[in-house]
Amino acid sequence: MRLPPRVLSILQFAAIGIAMAAIFVADTGTSYEVAAAVFYAIVILIAARALGRSGLAALTAACIGLTVLSFWLTPHGDFHAGLINTGISIAAIVMTAYLVITMQAARTAAHLAQAQLMRMARVKSLEGLTTSIAHEVNQPLAAIVTSGHASQRWLAQEPPNLDKARQALARILDAADRASSIIVRVRSLTRGAPAHKSAFDLNQAILEVIALAQAEIDRNGIVLQTDLSLHLPHAHADRVQIQQVIGNLVLNAIEAMSAMPAHSRVLQISSAASDGTVTIAVADSGEGFPPEMHERLFEAFWTTKPHGIGVGLSISRAIVEANGGQIEAYPREGGGAVLRFTVPGLLQEAPQ
Ligand code: ADP
Repeated sequence: MRLPPRVLSILQFAAIGIAMAAIFVADTGTSYEVAAAVFYAIVILIAARALGRSGLAALTAACIGLTVLSFWLTPHGDFHAGLINTGISIAAIVMTAYLVITMQAARTAAHLAQAQLMRMARVKSLEGLTTSIAHEVNQPLAAIVTSGHASQRWLAQEPPNLDKARQALARILDAADRASSIIVRVRSLTRGAPAHKSAFDLNQAILEVIALAQAEIDRNGIVLQTDLSLHLPHAHADRVQIQQVIGNLVLNAIEAMSAMPAHSRVLQISSAASDGTVTIAVADSGEGFPPEMHERLFEAFWTTKPHGIGVGLSISRAIVEANGGQIEAYPREGGGAVLRFTVPGLLQEAPQ
């Protein structure tokens, strides 16, 4: 059974409190020669998972305070030995806290780097698409603006030069046609982007993406549930592209849950085999979307996020289709969304 994060942290704090009280009683009750206070270092090690930097600093101060208080209250033993033992205990507590805080800082830096990497993988695929669209479409747009100004001038003349204005309008229509055919071409380019297909273990590919997203998942307090079929045929597709799609869906799911209360964020990632294909589903307990919106999600530049671009899912669909699969979105039972896509599978079973 998995305990809710709130209950877990209450239990952790209770355990830390009980351990500190037990060490204090032992340290005060035994003679000066027994350095029970060094066990505070273990408390700090255990608390490292539950506390941040300032929490650890406060805990360290509390442990030092209790050590000094115990020394003060201890009724018997060699006073000099007690002084030395108290010094050793405080040194052990401070050193442990210093090491734990340094390790935490290193771990945070590693997590940030991972999140950055994940975003870069996403931005990289967007970058190529947006640059080519901007480059290609800019020229006809500039022509439209120039001809628009020209036709305004021809119409403003007294009498208006209707012939010239008509020619300028014809140029505008030409340029608009050109822009729209460029967009069609760019779309077909992304659809037909050559996929380097090979046979690969899809579960392994999913686990690699999860490892990359783990820091982001933890940072958002999300409970991750995986249900990866053990009897999956190898997938036959472009491994890197498929991982990009999974990463994209996972990031969308994390973003969709950001407004939900922390204890209700659940991300489910599953794989299954059916009729020669393998299916990957990414489900979340986020805000979801109205059922009639399920097709709009895949439209390029359709976004409900204030800083969204709205091309993640349209690129994901282009990639999945280029690899011979299909992608769909539907509401999750109990709230949230499910994004599911298929990838062609090899007929023989993957070696276990
Ligand atoms: P962006 O993330 O930049 O908005 P996407 O193409 O990835 O672009 O997504 C388009 C829109 O689809 C999002 O703005 C959001 O409204 C919706 N969407 C995508 N994934 C989810 C999800 N897991 N739950 C709810 N809505 C989603």
